[in-house]
Amino acid sequence: MPEHMPAAVYIGDGALAVQELPIPTPAAGEVLIEVSHCGICGTDLHLVLEQYARPGAVLGHEWSGTIAQVGEGVDGWEPGARVVVDSVGGCGECRACRAGRPAVCLRREPPDYLGFRGAFTQYKAVPAARLLRIPDQLSTRAAALTEPTAIALHTVALAGVTRADRVLVTGGGPVGLLTTAVLRAQGVDDITVSEPAPARRERALEVGARQVVEPSELPRAPMAGTVDEPFTVAFECSGNARAGESALDQLDYAGMLVFVGTGHEWPRINHNRVIVLELTIIGAYNYEAAGFAPALELLASGALPLDALIEADDVPLDGLLPTMQRLAAGELAGKVMVRPEVRA
Ligand SMILES: [Zn+2]
Ligand SMILES: [Zn+2]
Repeated sequence: MPEHMPAAVYIGDGALAVQELPIPTPAAGEVLIEVSHCGICGTDLHLVLEQYARPGAVLGHEWSGTIAQVGEGVDGWEPGARVVVDSVGGCGECRACRAGRPAVCLRREPPDYLGFRGAFTQYKAVPAARLLRIPDQLSTRAAALTEPTAIALHTVALAGVTRADRVLVTGGGPVGLLTTAVLRAQGVDDITVSEPAPARRERALEVGARQVVEPSELPRAPMAGTVDEPFTVAFECSGNARAGESALDQLDYAGMLVFVGTGHEWPRINHNRVIVLELTIIGAYNYEAAGFAPALELLASGALPLDALIEADDVPLDGLLPTMQRLAAGELAGKVMVRPEVRA
């Protein structure tokens, strides 16, 4: 076992550098996992490109790997086991948990994304109690989609979407595509994706959208009443303020707008419209109490178009920053996987 491992470290000013960090030692009850793949999340883009991260942070929270070493007192796990690391569930006692909303448990440890010690590196030590075994029929690479898939499942569940719904998804990047694919896997097929980048529109059709439009094709709503072909539910997955405003415009009476994508510019919400049409606006951020298991099951079921959801080319640690820039520019549609073991 070597003593050091490469990691993509945030060094400030929107820059990353591959540095050698000590490989963690698994404490009692922990295992050391060799990271196989770690997906790039929109949150990582905001933290790096918009410079919110603290220098020294290692980002990356959508990952899968293989057990390299088992700590003291760990039963039932062996080196070589392919795993993902589940979220911590709700406490079951706080106000949010009692209201059936464990995803926002008040005692849940907030993820420290700013100074995060994430998985854009080669090894991570984690509590064995949080491990889930990757099913045989699912690749370790595709299992790195478990976390964002768990979020997409939660997003769709919160919105209470049914097959009768007419759904708009604004933003055809990784989040919008995964949300679309999860909706489709649940039998919802009237899905329109609005997206400015042609490559992303094309990919949206591949993952199950019935139709795609350019954002400029979405009409402004009349003062009172709806557009000609309104939607019952809109998922705003781009984080773009204009897209949020337009999504609200597209809703039918008693429609629902779900904010999924974060952004640094805030939309202006026409509250008159929300009142008159009795619209509901919600946000979706986290996972269900059941954690990652349902997502892992869905990924293993073959119901999701994994090849269209994941970009074909994985990137090494030193390819992370240029890839983030390409993602932010809308040049890449699907989830990009980082392979920390690949040294350039
Ligand atoms: Zn994420
Ligand atoms: Zn709680």
